[in-house]
Amino acid sequence: MLKVEGINVYYGNIQALKGVSLEINQGEIVTLIGANGAGKSTLLKTISGLLKPKQGQIIYEGQSIAGKAAQSIVKMGISHVPEGRRVFANMTVEENLDLGAYLRKDKEGIKEDFGRVFELFPRLMERRKQLAGTLSGGEQQMLAMGRALMARPRLLVLDEPSMGLAPLLVKTIFRIIEEINATGTTILLVEQNAHMALSIANRAYVIETGRVVLSGTPDELNASEQIKMAYLGGH
Ligand code: ATP
Repeated sequence: MLKVEGINVYYGNIQALKGVSLEINQGEIVTLIGANGAGKSTLLKTISGLLKPKQGQIIYEGQSIAGKAAQSIVKMGISHVPEGRRVFANMTVEENLDLGAYLRKDKEGIKEDFGRVFELFPRLMERRKQLAGTLSGGEQQMLAMGRALMARPRLLVLDEPSMGLAPLLVKTIFRIIEEINATGTTILLVEQNAHMALSIANRAYVIETGRVVLSGTPDELNASEQIKMAYLGGH
């Protein structure tokens, strides 16, 4: 579905990604694991068109998308939930969700997707008239995910969805990610919580200082002493 081939991405003179390649197959949950500053968010932003690679290719469903406008990429079916949520604080839950569908014209489909989002996140239904800025952190994460789903993505890109959430809520968010995947949406997930990420992923890539240093199934990564020590708390 998505193939990233040898991309180099820079912030000015600083090279944040160094020849990164990865592949995501239709229907998978793929996770990126790596320390702070390894380049995970940069990779997600490059896939969704917020950054442009200097070299390399990104092929999505057979088409080259590297350097395309973010809006065109959303239209092609890739939605990105950024780190830190970024909901529109002064708009209601409903208005935020509506914005997620702003590139669509199929009124019926949009209505259907409102229903689907409210089914996945009953809390958002209860709070649909509430200003997003007054929601709890967990509710804002749900809203950010709901808003991305309103674009009806085939590939959903999630940057640290569990950040700052209480453990019970983290579990809920992960269960919902699995539910979204089960209905046919492919997922690319960046997570600090490597244990949780590996528990739901089909495959994982480990990124260190801008390079992919390892990839494999969760079982393969869990069996690696090096990964255990670096990312899984040594056990
Ligand atoms: P985190 O989990 O902390 O977000 P990350 O793996 O997502 O980490 P990135 O945010 O992709 O890491 O950052 C990769 C590298 O690029 C880091 O060295 C970071 O300092 C640098 N970087 C990120 N954003 C910018 C920017 N806007 N300008 C300059 N350098 C940046």
